[in-house]
Amino acid sequence: MTVKAANNAVEFPGLEILQRFDVPGPRYTSYPTADRFKKEFSPDSYIKVLSERGEKHPNATLSLYVHIPYCSNICYYCGCNKVITKDHGQSKEYIEVLGKECDLVSKHLTGNRIVEQLHFGGGSPTFLDNEELTLVMKTITDRFQLSESAEISIEVDPRSCPPEKVRHLASIGFNRMSIGVQDLDNRVQIAVNRIQPYEMVKATLDTARDSGFKSINMDLIYGLPFQSRASFKETLDKIIELSPDRIALYHYAHLPEHFKAQRRIEVADLPSTPEKVSIMMDAITRLTENGYHYIGMDHFAKTTDELATAQINGTLQRNFQGYSTKPECDMVALGASSISKIGPCYAANARDIPSYYESINTGELATIRGYELNDDDQLRYRVIMNVMCQFEIVKKDIETQFGIHFDEYFDYELKALKHFEEEGLVILEKDRIEVTPKGKLLVRAVAMNFDRYLREDERVRRYSRIV
Ligand code: SF4
Repeated sequence: MTVKAANNAVEFPGLEILQRFDVPGPRYTSYPTADRFKKEFSPDSYIKVLSERGEKHPNATLSLYVHIPYCSNICYYCGCNKVITKDHGQSKEYIEVLGKECDLVSKHLTGNRIVEQLHFGGGSPTFLDNEELTLVMKTITDRFQLSESAEISIEVDPRSCPPEKVRHLASIGFNRMSIGVQDLDNRVQIAVNRIQPYEMVKATLDTARDSGFKSINMDLIYGLPFQSRASFKETLDKIIELSPDRIALYHYAHLPEHFKAQRRIEVADLPSTPEKVSIMMDAITRLTENGYHYIGMDHFAKTTDELATAQINGTLQRNFQGYSTKPECDMVALGASSISKIGPCYAANARDIPSYYESINTGELATIRGYELNDDDQLRYRVIMNVMCQFEIVKKDIETQFGIHFDEYFDYELKALKHFEEEGLVILEKDRIEVTPKGKLLVRAVAMNFDRYLREDERVRRYSRIV
């Protein structure tokens, strides 16, 4: 089965190959992956990185991420870092501390740092009421200079975002949103404790469009309890009719030993692996036949959307929010558990709220770990991003940028990739490496060949698979 789309094709490699090559692996929203970050990287290290970046690149543009960790109800499949509460006293305090963190960070951001992207994620940012959302936006715009054309996006839970709140979001500057849908089948929704009828989702989307939102994304999940090919087809029919600009189709990884909420999901209710694969392939077929470009991993975008254009232009990038169209921006992340990337450095905040508060309230940044990429890391970062985002490595481009001889430097990796070539998952040419349509669903397994750290230990077991 081959699915063609404009400038794009993805092919089912067969269940046997999928299971053999789909080893647990990272999603490469960073390289090295966050579990390699070092605890020696302190708040002072982060301050130094911010200051030096301002001196050397005073006009480097910024992408801001704001983490809002609260949700009113638990979704049983959830593996995010969040706090379940209905108490807005907690979010009130969080916003105050967020303001202090903005003060601390912006003090060290010298130069003319214009914000091109601002994203609110969580948790569930629409947990905040209108007044709180306005306050957070003011907190940001008082300290950072937003470009007039800035992409300002928010993750939206339709249950906490009725039309009136959507209009409010537009009025305070939001122009993009990602709506959490997951599945529209009532039985599935009950089983995962996330009940949001189709009409509710449609009202959120319609109001967003009427209010001027662009590039609206919808998140779906396959592999949830009681899903079948037939039930998910119905969900997908409705989603295609709603016609969001982007769709993310995530795999549910059942890891109850890591995520307590998942213990509320009965293993017996989950679809079998062949059923899950069929659901996934049906979805890819339907979406690519209906005007969506397969971006990679879990993402689809209309061929006119910026994500698809960025992939075609070779400027697509991955970061902690998934795929991004702004590779040149430094990422300043605010809030508990958020991770910044400034030039070739990562800085991670404390994950839990009390530790985050303790640092910020004593006038210190909440950095607990981080990483400065060395020359080899930067080279591998570029190669892995090319595989993940473009499905291709042009050796000459890498050689020119890093002053290496590709085949000599990656002799070990090229030998390992022979195994993939034999199964038709990659094409190894003299001047380039290409992930074939058959290899696209296994792209992270291809990328893992270039990850130096994965060779060194057994942490790979902690990651999930695609089916
Ligand atoms: S899935 Fe989203 S809304 Fe549900 S508990 Fe997790 S973070 Fe909250």
